[in-house]
Amino acid sequence: MKKYLTALLGLFSISILITNMLGCQSQSLVAVENDAFVLGTFGQIRVYAPSEEEGLKAIAVAFKRITELENAMGPSLVGSDVYNINANAGKTSVQVSDDTLKVIKEGIKYEGLTSGAFNITLGSLIELWGIGKEWQKVPSPADIQDSKEHIEIINLQIDGNKIMIKDPEMLMDLGGIAKGYSVDEAVKVLKANGIKSGFVNLGGDVYAFGQKPDESKWAIGIQKPLVNSNGVVAKVLLENQSIVSSGNYERYFVDKGIRYHHIIDPATGYPSDSGVVSVTIISDSAIDGDALSTAVFILGHEKGMELVEELEGVDAVVITKDNTVYISSGANDMVEILDKTYQPAD
Ligand code: AMP
Ligand code: MG
Repeated sequence: MKKYLTALLGLFSISILITNMLGCQSQSLVAVENDAFVLGTFGQIRVYAPSEEEGLKAIAVAFKRITELENAMGPSLVGSDVYNINANAGKTSVQVSDDTLKVIKEGIKYEGLTSGAFNITLGSLIELWGIGKEWQKVPSPADIQDSKEHIEIINLQIDGNKIMIKDPEMLMDLGGIAKGYSVDEAVKVLKANGIKSGFVNLGGDVYAFGQKPDESKWAIGIQKPLVNSNGVVAKVLLENQSIVSSGNYERYFVDKGIRYHHIIDPATGYPSDSGVVSVTIISDSAIDGDALSTAVFILGHEKGMELVEELEGVDAVVITKDNTVYISSGANDMVEILDKTYQPAD
């Protein structure tokens, strides 16, 4: 039995389970890691590089790329593409970067694929709830109803690199997808800088690539879907894939004993109450995993799994309130439940 170290990422939905190999030199590669606070979260990049210097250099370029994306897509950053689009809602179109355009297009694609569960034009509702912001509170039903009238993705118009929101009260929010894109881009940068294996973890959106020096696969832990828990429900083995989780224990506030979390169901205008507590998506790119983890959470385990089974190269682990673990057909061999208080679905 290998021993695993799980302490690192207790706050996030996903932990990187690192074998005892870590830190040793093997095949003259050295494990190099650097962390930074990016995109409002903890960013961690670890690579296996020929030297510490080369590893750190590649990691620095990757973090620079992530910051560039944050500057384009951060909603509250004055002058970002998203800020400008929202500030000009109902007025005029805004020229955006190719990155922002790509993420918006993917967002629109996922709105269609998820029957509207994933919606990047949910900004007015997200602002209203303000989960994690100073003004977070349970809004009045009238305010929720009012915001719900301004989430029609059809009012987001694209003309080349120009984006316009036609409804003056509608807002765009890429918080459910931009992190995934940033992970994919950071991996591209690492590879372009000669790194053959490593992982990028942005607050639980992970991509692991290449082989570790001991030739074992990456072991990634799915965090227990409980507030402030460091425990791991299951271990997932992967290679050249992303793994992204969404959960109701990540960002929330409590009012009169009720927990209100950050994944909003566009159909109700309230935090999603589908019976799901955590969704982990395993896919070829983190942007897909990011959008789908949020969407499957809202769709619930039945509809969500149906969608996952239809999609090529996408797998999921869905945990429901009663501690049942649903694993998609393609992931059965990759997932091992470690905590026996969680039971696999029949
Ligand atoms: P994630 O943590 O990836 O599940 O994404 C949650 C974030 O996505 C929230 O903090 C919001 O910014 C945004 N969001 C919440 N609900 C939705 C939704 N239904 N569709 C798209 N984005 C959402
Ligand atoms: Mg997401």
